[in-house]
Amino acid sequence: MKVGGFDMKIELKPCPYCGGIAEGHIKTVESFKKINSYYVVCTECGASTERYTTEFAMSQNGKRFRPMTKEEAIRKTVNDWNNGIFDTKTKLLHMTEQEKILWYTADLLKVAWYGVNVLMGSLRWETAWKLRKMAEERKLLSLNSGKDYDLEVVADELLHDDTVRCIVISYIKEIDVVSVGRDKT
Ligand SMILES: [Zn+2]
Repeated sequence: MKVGGFDMKIELKPCPYCGGIAEGHIKTVESFKKINSYYVVCTECGASTERYTTEFAMSQNGKRFRPMTKEEAIRKTVNDWNNGIFDTKTKLLHMTEQEKILWYTADLLKVAWYGVNVLMGSLRWETAWKLRKMAEERKLLSLNSGKDYDLEVVADELLHDDTVRCIVISYIKEIDVVSVGRDKT
């Protein structure tokens, strides 16, 4: 397997989606200083891992926060690739319609439950809060419970309701229209 930009000897599995050859990439973005991000991408279909940088602190095994070294970033992206862990764009592209609906429902619940940084009043924000309210009304979520919710499970239960399905499906349609011809990353 080709290793592309990585100057290390690494075995990369072929792409699980198309059987194409995978390559390791280093992308340098210059802002206040040079930031390198490391990722593996399929040369055929563009399936890609998340990008890991050596500039931003990340939790290492849930303990300390510190930036990764170059070797760690490369090891992480290679591990992701070989274990079939891809970036959101790639995952969404290969999901069935049902999986997509579940993924977006959980994602929206996360926005309203954890307070992910989303523009107030935006469609994502409005939809997220609508879903959170519905989940609370159905006692699937409760702030006072002190529970550590698995929001994928909550999303799954919430989707038994046709009204919820309709809200999520029209949300997906709306954002698909907005993002046509635009790179979402
Ligand atoms: Zn591929």
